[in-house]
Amino acid sequence: MNQRIKCFLIIASLALAIACKEKTNEFFIQTVEGSLSVDTSSLWLSHEHLLVDFIGADSIRADDWDDKEVIHTMLPYLEELKAYDVSFFVDPTPNYLGRAPELLKEFSQQSGIHIITNTGLYGAVNNKYLPEYVYELEAKDLAEMWEDEYSDGIGGTGIKPGFIKISVDNSDPLEDMDAKLVEAAAITHLKTGLTIASHTGAAKALWPQLEILAQNKVSPKAFIWVHGQAESDFEQFLRAAQTGCWISLDGLGWELEKHLEQLVYAKKNGFLGQVLISHDAGWFDPQKEQQDIVGYTRIFEELIPRLKSEGFTTQDIDMLLKVNPAKAFGIRARELE
Ligand SMILES: [Zn+2]
Repeated sequence: MNQRIKCFLIIASLALAIACKEKTNEFFIQTVEGSLSVDTSSLWLSHEHLLVDFIGADSIRADDWDDKEVIHTMLPYLEELKAYDVSFFVDPTPNYLGRAPELLKEFSQQSGIHIITNTGLYGAVNNKYLPEYVYELEAKDLAEMWEDEYSDGIGGTGIKPGFIKISVDNSDPLEDMDAKLVEAAAITHLKTGLTIASHTGAAKALWPQLEILAQNKVSPKAFIWVHGQAESDFEQFLRAAQTGCWISLDGLGWELEKHLEQLVYAKKNGFLGQVLISHDAGWFDPQKEQQDIVGYTRIFEELIPRLKSEGFTTQDIDMLLKVNPAKAFGIRARELE
């Protein structure tokens, strides 16, 4: 073969190899402003709230709050994140707890930070946040409603959810209603590729959820164990990591030392690549006279210096805040092999 052609072929195949490698680091994300492809170099906060209204599904109304007042109160906290290069802000406030897609879009436009909202329903606290119609529907009917939100947008806004947020009371076996929500999430995942983030708490309620996923041929890789920091038996983290699920240690707005211990354990046991961290902080509460906001910066101001003194490298920290969230929230069906 002509030397020049040979050389060209080598360069072309190298370029192709690099392109393929890059492709595996590109993830498709749905924000409140549209879909985009992200690599693993953007910084994420994977569980934070701008607004939560705890009044209950039977009483919640969109005019419980004034959008302008919420923006005036919360925008400075979002603006603070620019100093830390935060690009993605995942807001898991569920429907019937103050999920407000248009308000989130406004926050996104004013701050320049990409915000991600959700579909799904919150079953914890004995169904306080579930509307009546949920009792009448089967899992597949709920899944159909959530799939519609993803294909057509939420309630006529055209704004699409970027993941499925559910929640369960911490029991094993699960309450029937909670099991139905998990099954609906599994069905929705297979149709849409949206990741399932489930407010779970201690590991006890994780196992029955993974079982329902398995019955529906959904891989644990599509599942985020939310509020994992509530677990005190660290071996449960190792067991969970072995299934392939994501472990979200997301109470950093409220507690630091236990999270730090859990992160050190994750690094030591080689599953840092499956851990997400966030503050679960915020938020504007329409039921409060005086707002009492917890900001979203403790990770940057306190946790990262502490992690460094525990021997965490820049690469480890990037894994937690950049690589893992892109992989966890990247939209693609993850079927059980
Ligand atoms: Zn939360």
